[in-house]
Formats: sequence, C-alpha cells, structure tokens
Amino acid sequence: MHVLGIETTCDETATAVVALTEDGRGLIRANEVLSQIAEHAAYGGVVPEIAARAHVEVLDRLIARALDAAELGFDDLDGIAVAAGPGLIGGVLIGLVTAKTLSLVTRKPLLAINHLEAHALTARLTDGVAFPYLLLLASGGHTQLVAVRGVGDYVRLGSTIDDAIGEAFDKVAKLLGLSYPGGPEVERAAESGNPERFALPRPMLGRRTPDFSLSGLKTALRIEAERIAPLTQQDVADLCASFQAAVVDVVVDRVRVALRSFGPVAGHPTALVAAGGVAANGALRRALAQQAGEAGLPLVAPPLPLCGDNGAMIAWAGIERLRLGLVDDLTAPARPRWPFAAASPREAADAA
Ligand code: ATP
Ligand code: MG
Ligand code: FE
Repeated sequence: MHVLGIETTCDETATAVVALTEDGRGLIRANEVLSQIAEHAAYGGVVPEIAARAHVEVLDRLIARALDAAELGFDDLDGIAVAAGPGLIGGVLIGLVTAKTLSLVTRKPLLAINHLEAHALTARLTDGVAFPYLLLLASGGHTQLVAVRGVGDYVRLGSTIDDAIGEAFDKVAKLLGLSYPGGPEVERAAESGNPERFALPRPMLGRRTPDFSLSGLKTALRIEAERIAPLTQQDVADLCASFQAAVVDVVVDRVRVALRSFGPVAGHPTALVAAGGVAANGALRRALAQQAGEAGLPLVAPPLPLCGDNGAMIAWAGIERLRLGLVDDLTAPARPRWPFAAASPREAADAA
C-alpha cells in the first residue's frame, strides 16, 4: 500500500509518499518540504495570503518531486491523503482542491486528514508505538495532553488555556529580537545562557488537571527584559535559558498529572509520545526522556524533520485510516478549526 501525503495548512508546503510494509510498519519513500520561512521572516510571523500564494506556486512540482523520489506513478498509489485542517484556510483549500482533483482523475480514494491527528500518529510511523499512549502535542498552534486510544479515538486530558508552547517560544523570540520561527532560535541562545539568572513563574504548577497557561510566563519575561534593557547578547541568552527552563518544568509537571489521569480513561500507556514542532526541543526531550524512564515508559519523539510539519505524517495518517476503510469523498470540507480529541471519555463514546 502506498499513499501520497499533502500538507499545506501553515507555512510549509510538503508532500510525501509512505508505504505500508508487510509487517504493518510505515516506510517513507519520499518526503519533500519547501519551507516559506524566508517569505515570512520580515513580518515576524506567517502572513496567510503570502502563505497561500506560495503553496499554489510550488505544490504541483512538489507532488511530482515526491513521486519521482519514490520512483512511483499515480497508478501505483492506493490513496491521496491531504491535511484538510485545522490551519490557515487559504493554504488548506489549495491542498484540498489539489487532492480532490487528483482523487477524481486517478480514481484513488481521498483521505481528508486532521493535521493534529497526523502529528499524533507520527510515533506509530517512526516507532510502531501500540495504543494506548499518552501524547504531548506541542506545536505552533496547539498544546494538549491526549490519551490516544486508537485511530480516531482521542481523549483530551488537558490543554492550554491561552498560548500554545510554540507560540510562546515565537513571541519570546520576537521580543528579544531573534528571528522567526522562534523555537530553534531560543533553544540555540539558551545553550550559552544561565537558566537560574531570572526567577520566572511556573504557571499551573501543581494544578490537578493537566492544563497549561503560557501567557503569564511570556509577560514575566518581557518585564524582566524591559527592566534590564538594553540587552547584551548574554542577557538574551540568560533570558532564553530561564524561559526554556520554566517551560520544561511546567511541561514535566503537567505530564506527571496527565500520567495520573490516564489510567481511568485509557488503561496502562505503552509510551509517552511527544509530537509537534516543539518536540524538537532538546532540553524538553531530555527532561521527558528522564521522566518517562522514571515512570517505566519509553519516550518516543519523532526524528527532528518529522516533528514540524511534513507530508509523511499526513500520508501515514492516510494509511492508518485507509486500512480501516475510513475514506472521504469530494464533499470533504476545508476546516480552519477542527478539534481532533474529544473533551471527555463520554464525548468520545458519543462520537464513536
Ligand atoms: P499546529 O500544528 O498547531 O497547526 P504548526 O503546524 O505551525 O501548528 P509545527 O510546525 O508543528 O506547528 O511547529 C512549529 C512550532 O514549533 C513553532 O512555534 C516553532 O517555534 C516551534 N519549534 C520548532 N523547533 C523548536 C525548538 N527547537 N524548541 C522550541 N520550539 C520549537
Ligand atoms: Mg509550521
Ligand atoms: Fe503542525
């Protein structure tokens, strides 16, 4: 089984071909990505109209390139998977219309994939993780702890009440004069910084539900930065290190609470899984690996190119759904907002 994956929900145009092997694992045959970072850098964030135009300009070539790299033609495909949301509507529409057209012309099934579900299932592509597992999804637009019980069966244990973690990294980077996207920049600067120089808050620490709040932390950092301005390079490094340490402390505490609430919802987890762009953060990965180890669980975090947005995760989610017969048709809508996890076990049961 081979599935083409198309991802255009944000600022990465990405395509991939993933194969399902005999033993039920995924094999990435091609994974192409064109980031628009340069086009958006001057604005310090993603400009939706620029993103949509950039997707139009490159998507057809990027699909051809993925098929070439996989040494396959459209005839060899078993399905066309596309991220149908959530995301910037202009980009989503371009990916979805392209995928629908290909599906119509090639008569291959269409798989309209939730971008967040694709992040959530990536650990099964890379490591064959079995259900159920505890997922920390931390990206530019979302921060959630989710009990992943099966394909299409997700129960949210907690989420952010304000900013996403990636968004907080991006905002901190912007206010410190670092470039976009901020996550990798803040991490790099933090390497030569002192994480104890600034006593930043750890919002939500100890709270009994595994929710997050990041906006107060970002504000506290801004106040410190303004207090000591003008900033030297060392000040920036120390601020980044202090911020990152606070985020790591918060995440570890929230994961601890989520591990406690996991059992009644989903039984015993097979793994702690980190996904989304923020899962690329080395300090966070190290802390989570230690925490998972203490809980007797493996930490599974995708290799760096599969943490951020990519086509392989869309193709893989397509395979997961296709082999269960969960295909879509040409009426599949583009969804700027599209929650992927149920708010409670009862809601999950109602949806099933
Ligand atoms: P969503 O998946 O919620 O729709 P998105 O697709 O824009 O949002 P991703 O591409 O999955 O998000 O992740 C991008 C985010 O990850 C950005 O906010 C970026 O700053 C953050 N990020 C990337 N690398 C790192 C890192 N090393 N440390 C911290 N954050 C990082
Ligand atoms: Mg992105
Ligand atoms: Fe994403």
